[in-house]
Amino acid sequence: MVRGVPGRREGQVEAVETHEIIYKSQGGKCVPDNEIAVCRPDHQRTHFLIEPYLHREELYKIKKGEVDEDNLEDAVSVKR
Ligand SMILES: [Zn+2]
Repeated sequence: MVRGVPGRREGQVEAVETHEIIYKSQGGKCVPDNEIAVCRPDHQRTHFLIEPYLHREELYKIKKGEVDEDNLEDAVSVKR
């Protein structure tokens, strides 16, 4: 789960899933450097490009800690 990502509902328990930032179908590996934890709704948005979703570059910024997750909407160009 990425905190602060649009679509997360307050007080709602959500399953956390592992997403490969570079898809396995594109040669991405199931290794920690290529993985990020996301909630199910955000995971589905990422794969099916349902807006708002996060781009690969934005996921890497979040993973590297370059983005303050509490201000995620301001820090990355989340599509609307
Ligand atoms: Zn995924």
